[in-house]
Amino acid sequence: MIIDRAVPPVHLHIGGEELDAGSGGVHEHVFPATGEVQGPVPLAGADDVDAAVRAAHAALPEWRAWTPARRAKVLTKLAELMENDREELARLSVLDNAMTHTLSGLLVDIMIGWTSYYAGWADKIEGKVTSVPGQQRELAYTVAEPYGVVGIIITWNGPLVSVGMKLIPALAAGNTVVLKPSELTPYATERVVALAREAGIPAGVVNFVPGGPDAGDTLVCHPLVQKVSFTGGPATARKILSACAESLKPAVLELGGKSANLVFPDANLDTAMMSAAGVVGTLAGQGCAIASRMLVHEDVYDEMAARVVGLVSSLRCGDPFDPETAISPLVTRAAQERVHAMIKRAQADGAKLLTGGGIPGGDLADGFYVEPTVFGDVDPGSELGQVEVFGPVLSMMRFSTEEEAVEIANGTPYGLASYIQTNDLARVQRLATKLHAGGVYVNGAPPVVSCELPFGGVGISGYGREGGLEGLFEFVRTKAVAIA
Ligand code: NAD
Repeated sequence: MIIDRAVPPVHLHIGGEELDAGSGGVHEHVFPATGEVQGPVPLAGADDVDAAVRAAHAALPEWRAWTPARRAKVLTKLAELMENDREELARLSVLDNAMTHTLSGLLVDIMIGWTSYYAGWADKIEGKVTSVPGQQRELAYTVAEPYGVVGIIITWNGPLVSVGMKLIPALAAGNTVVLKPSELTPYATERVVALAREAGIPAGVVNFVPGGPDAGDTLVCHPLVQKVSFTGGPATARKILSACAESLKPAVLELGGKSANLVFPDANLDTAMMSAAGVVGTLAGQGCAIASRMLVHEDVYDEMAARVVGLVSSLRCGDPFDPETAISPLVTRAAQERVHAMIKRAQADGAKLLTGGGIPGGDLADGFYVEPTVFGDVDPGSELGQVEVFGPVLSMMRFSTEEEAVEIANGTPYGLASYIQTNDLARVQRLATKLHAGGVYVNGAPPVVSCELPFGGVGISGYGREGGLEGLFEFVRTKAVAIA
């Protein structure tokens, strides 16, 4: 399979205009698999972000005047265009962050699914009719109104998934948007923005400002931005919330995780084991909801550890376009060094290195790879047991009782997802209420986010939900009207 590896030029999109340059300078995009510079990415400066917000604000009256059915139609058209463009979107996603081509195709399909799903909701956003007894207001009703301009700030690991989770429901609900991707991953997202115009979404409804933290901060602080939807790390989320506090602006925060996968002796160990491949093989562990801690009952721990090591050590790092490649590189050299340093500290801390732990050499030496790594008997209180690695590292831990498993699972400040491997339904029901997480997923490899289900965190994994009706209603506010 020969795939074109040329990257397209990147633009800012403001009010329907495509701009070759921004006032924030230029980022030289590096392909993580080779360390080679691929091309310049123009960066939005504060004045570009201001212009984008003003364009989004100017586009609001027209977009809100469209009937919901017309918005539904144009979003359905967008999903069709994405489908037709599937190969190119998948190719660009690989060029963005060097995720495997297999994964990028899957994520494009997920984005298309979310787009169709929320297109279907666009003309079904209803209020309710009620009354206020005793106040002579016999007729009262609620209206779900869009916020206005929404600022969307996303990260580099799955930008197209964030498009489906944030951009599409924001538009379906009648908002206009300024979208700031990470400067590390502009390509596939810009393609979607161009497709949105082609689908018939009016100029200014979707604005695109690639940029770094300063551009994000300008967007959050802009007085015309009515709501912020953010995906990234907890440290950035704190800064964003501080900025939002000034004008009491609401925000949805989708942050990181340190998710636990509880494996009980009655589980199907074949499928339970597959989750280990998901941890190290999903974008080299750079996924927010991966089950990075595998908690295994002592009766099956040794067997599971042997199976997991067999599986993980068979996974190969390589060219992300090669269908045989399971492990892609980390996003930057700094990320590679950070993860490798964590591995070294874990060894010094006494965690047992069962496989991996090194940096591949040879043909891969210029890329930002880390070998898929498994640690055994990790102390739940150690750095490896507590801190999100965001790399291809699985931590295995033993437990002997259900209570102990829950205590370990809940023993970090995160709470994005929990996983249970068991065939005991009563156990599932008991544990689902006890696990401190936004979602509990039972059996098999961890699922990818599905549009029908709300997804989000508790604790420092954030708040607000994406997916399902909950995700749509993050982008409207309810107005009450009561008539005397
Ligand atoms: P990050 O927080 O550094 O950056 C995320 C985005 O925020 C980028 O676009 C960045 O430019 C922008 N930004 C940085 N500083 C800002 C500021 N002061 N104001 C406004 N915007 C600012 O995150 P990262 O390191 O790029 O991404 C990794 C984190 O994202 C991990 O913790 C991961 O778990 C999390 N994540 C969460 C989810 C989820 O849905 N829960 C999904 C993917 C990634």
